[in-house]
Amino acid sequence: MIQFKNVTLEYPVTRTLALDDLSLQVGKGEFVYLVGHSGAGKSSFMNLVLKRALPTRGEIRVAGETLARYRGRRTALLRRRIGTVFQDNLLLDHLNAYDNVAFTLRVTGVPQREWAGRVTTAMRTVGLEHKKHALPVQLSQGEQQRVAIARAIVADPPLLLADEPTGNLDPDHSREVLRVLQNVNLRGTTVIVATHARDLVETFRHRTLTLRKGRLVRDDPYGGYTL
Ligand code: ADP
Ligand code: ADP
Repeated sequence: MIQFKNVTLEYPVTRTLALDDLSLQVGKGEFVYLVGHSGAGKSSFMNLVLKRALPTRGEIRVAGETLARYRGRRTALLRRRIGTVFQDNLLLDHLNAYDNVAFTLRVTGVPQREWAGRVTTAMRTVGLEHKKHALPVQLSQGEQQRVAIARAIVADPPLLLADEPTGNLDPDHSREVLRVLQNVNLRGTTVIVATHARDLVETFRHRTLTLRKGRLVRDDPYGGYTL
């Protein structure tokens, strides 16, 4: 699903070396954690996959295609095929949970007759079918995050990128969100989670990639959190 070959990312102006000769592969259907201190390069990795940043050197392939070959409209299509979840996911507060999730389908041009079925499936995957009429203010932070995950997966992306998805949540809600991400993965979506949450990485074991100063220093198939 993702292939990095000798990828270096040096930000212009500050000349910060965010990623340093990074080579790795993430297969279709994998669940992978990306860990490392703040500044290790986790967000930069995500930005490269989304083509929000361009590598200074090296080659990146996503779903078998070399990103450098993507232009204009194809870049937009690529981004639509990748679900994203962040620490703060702004839901539209005047829309209920259902409509927040359906909004993505409107934007991505999915025919309206498919909306109800897709939204219902996504809400079920995140365990919030019964809250679909609730407004964001009526939901806990963990539930809001699950709505954001439903929104990210409703168009059935082959890949989901989650950057600190539990950053604002207490331990119970964090575990809930992790279970939901695992459900998404069980349905066939490749999931990459950048996180600082040691307890989650050690409780829900998955392959763990550790970055240090932009270099891959560990690739542990059974997980483990050692920075
Ligand atoms: P985290 O540690 O949670 O990943 P960061 O503070 O590293 O968060 O980054 C948050 C956002 O700010 C990212 O999108 C990143 O690209 C951007 N960012 C981080 N450092 C800088 C910087 N020195 N200059 C400009 N943007 C930055
Ligand atoms: P992480 O997500 O692991 O915290 P980042 O990828 O955000 O790490 O940052 C890696 C390095 O690149 C850090 O030194 C950060 O300050 C720098 N950086 C991130 N984004 C930018 C940016 N847009 N411009 C300049 N430097 C950046």
